[in-house]
Amino acid sequence: MKTKKLLATVILSSLFLSGYSSAGFQLPQPERYVELNHALTDGMITYPGESMVKHLNPQPRYPNGSLVDGLAVLGISGTYIDSPHHVDEKLGNISAYPLSSLVNLPITVVTLRKNARVFEIEDFENTDVNGKAVLLFTGQDRKFGQPDYMEESPYLSGAAASWLVKHGAKLVGIDSVLIDNPNAPDAAVPAHNILLKNGVVVAEDMTNIKNVVGTQAYLTAVPPRTPTTSFPARIFAAVYK
Ligand SMILES: [Zn+2]
Repeated sequence: MKTKKLLATVILSSLFLSGYSSAGFQLPQPERYVELNHALTDGMITYPGESMVKHLNPQPRYPNGSLVDGLAVLGISGTYIDSPHHVDEKLGNISAYPLSSLVNLPITVVTLRKNARVFEIEDFENTDVNGKAVLLFTGQDRKFGQPDYMEESPYLSGAAASWLVKHGAKLVGIDSVLIDNPNAPDAAVPAHNILLKNGVVVAEDMTNIKNVVGTQAYLTAVPPRTPTTSFPARIFAAVYK
């Protein structure tokens, strides 16, 4: 009897020490997290004329030490996601996104070819994008906030956007100002139209993508539940290997 009790104690102790909960399940912990967003700061510039960040701080700190403040922000400021409502009145806004579209998506990174400006179908043909967050790494984020950020800005072609939809991508993110050509003479946004109308999340003005190249990582891109067409999001990778 005494031996049985001792054995039970030893088993329970080892379960406790190895981190099992009472349900016998342990959440795998990532090696590290990587921020893939620009922090929002007062007066920051993203897309001139379409972006705005104003830190509201209308009253002094209360005598008890607390401070109440806020933020006025246009949707395409800093690092943000677009909703289908951005391109189609009948489709859902940011608050309509299910969390399954925004949380823990396996990441695959596709790097822009040397001296290229546009991601084309051939850049993806050897990549499994099904169910993935496809991150387009261009390095343009090094110019974020500078006057030349929008010059020769890399983007995704409409044909490549269709390929990504057909092959099951869940989210497409880029570290340049737009996923489309911001300098297109007719202001056409084919990649936006194709991706968003087919339920693929679009993330723009990302940063630090180089820090997840070659890793096994999962992306989370969650904004507040706003009624807007776009909104800044905390976008980050949980890196497991
Ligand atoms: Zn957009």
